[in-house]
Amino acid sequence: MITFVGAGPGAEDLITVRGQDLLKEADIVVYAGSLVNPGLLSLCREDCEIYNSAKMTLEEVMDVMTVGERSGKKVVRLHTGDPCLYGAIREQMDELEKLDIPYEVCPGVSSFCGAAAALGAEYTLPGVSQSVVITRMAGRTPVPERESIRSFAAHQATMVIFLSTGMLKELSAELICGGYDPDTPAAIVYKATWPEEKVLRCTVKDLAETAAGEHVTKTALIVVGGILEGGYERSKLYDPSFTTEFREASVPSAKEEQKETAPGSESEKRDREER
Ligand code: SAH
Repeated sequence: MITFVGAGPGAEDLITVRGQDLLKEADIVVYAGSLVNPGLLSLCREDCEIYNSAKMTLEEVMDVMTVGERSGKKVVRLHTGDPCLYGAIREQMDELEKLDIPYEVCPGVSSFCGAAAALGAEYTLPGVSQSVVITRMAGRTPVPERESIRSFAAHQATMVIFLSTGMLKELSAELICGGYDPDTPAAIVYKATWPEEKVLRCTVKDLAETAAGEHVTKTALIVVGGILEGGYERSKLYDPSFTTEFREASVPSAKEEQKETAPGSESEKRDREER
């Protein structure tokens, strides 16, 4: 069995309990050395074979994993954050399927969650944004034109931008061109959850200067949107005048008082479903 394991965003204790157990039991670990915290490898047994995939090709990675698995060894492929985002796992899974080798995925805490924690932010605020766009600028890996930053910017939803710290001037221009006000709040979170984490707050127009001022050139996420600053609406879920599946309203809502809406009315049912 080969298990793809999410290592979490950086801090050694942000791997899952399951991921930790898999590392402890592994005979072979292939880890993404460019971003995985090497401290996690101290969980491995003394006799565990450890490979850094930053120095390997896909073919070499597959060779280590498949030869190991076929000789009955437990193999862990350790990816940063959660492997489902920019992890290049599909191509590995497809190779394993061709060879009839079983695999599983153990999820991890993605860096976009680590960044929200560092910012003390909620990406989905009522009255501001109820969606998060996770994307990147095109680099050596192209991004389909229909997914351009400017087209997503038109939605004014919260955006978390990966793999783009080297292109911040272009990123600002795209965001503004797509419809973000140049003064929209933005943040750069460098190495979220690592001891050297930096949280830089700025606006859409001065992303590049802000990063340059702190010598941030990589391993950062850019967060953009009204959720970073300013007002929002209270949640319906915890509103005393709101009835949910688990709690009866303790005070009448302003709307109910005004309209004397009977309980169980269509509007009340709709409210319940919409929380
Ligand atoms: N699968 C990973 C993303 C890998 S792509 C995840 O779920 O987080 C690598 C990019 O992720 C980096 O260029 C950077 O943009 C971002 N990244 C990874 N770890 C980070 C961290 N601790 N803080 C900020 N950004 C991080």
